[in-house]
Amino acid sequence: MKSHRTEKLDVLLDEEKIRQRCRELGEQITRDFEGEEVHVIGVLKGAFVFLADLVRHIELDVSIDFLGLSSYGSRTESSGVVRMTSDLSIPIKGRHVIVVEDIVDTGLTMKYLLENLQTRMPQSLAVCTLLHKPANTKVDVPMNYVGFEIPDEFVIGYGLDDAEFSRHLPYIGIVRDA
Ligand code: 5GP
Repeated sequence: MKSHRTEKLDVLLDEEKIRQRCRELGEQITRDFEGEEVHVIGVLKGAFVFLADLVRHIELDVSIDFLGLSSYGSRTESSGVVRMTSDLSIPIKGRHVIVVEDIVDTGLTMKYLLENLQTRMPQSLAVCTLLHKPANTKVDVPMNYVGFEIPDEFVIGYGLDDAEFSRHLPYIGIVRDA
């Protein structure tokens, strides 16, 4: 895909690598929750592509919901101040919840989210993130399923945006500085 926005990209994770890892994570979740129903919650907007691919590899009874979060801060630096832009449509009390995120960077967003969801009394609460940047951790959050650990670079594509563009790219790329 060619556009002036993709000319400055280095591919970090190509489609095949991501597809393979989604399959592995789905199989792992299937094994871990054998005989149970799982309730998958996608964090909008970034997780929509990953969630769609992941759930198709989960061979269990799966229900799905979304919530919207937006964190204040500059393009590359999270402030940790998180706003819920849309809430869940289904109560999670008594359910096995798996939160699906695109990326855990400082961990501040996930910490906020887990604290919020925990008050709603799910039976269990697990986290599945496609990407994790360990170098940037400010708070430790439990991550049960991690797709890839990546270096401390700003990445886009496969749901992740660059000022709302480029979420549709089928791969994950690093933006090279001009
Ligand atoms: P946190 O620092 O709270 O763990 O991450 C906050 C949010 O910042 C993530 O959910 C994600 O939306 C955004 N973010 C963090 N690192 C990146 C990145 O490399 N690329 C993009 N597009 N967003 C990021």
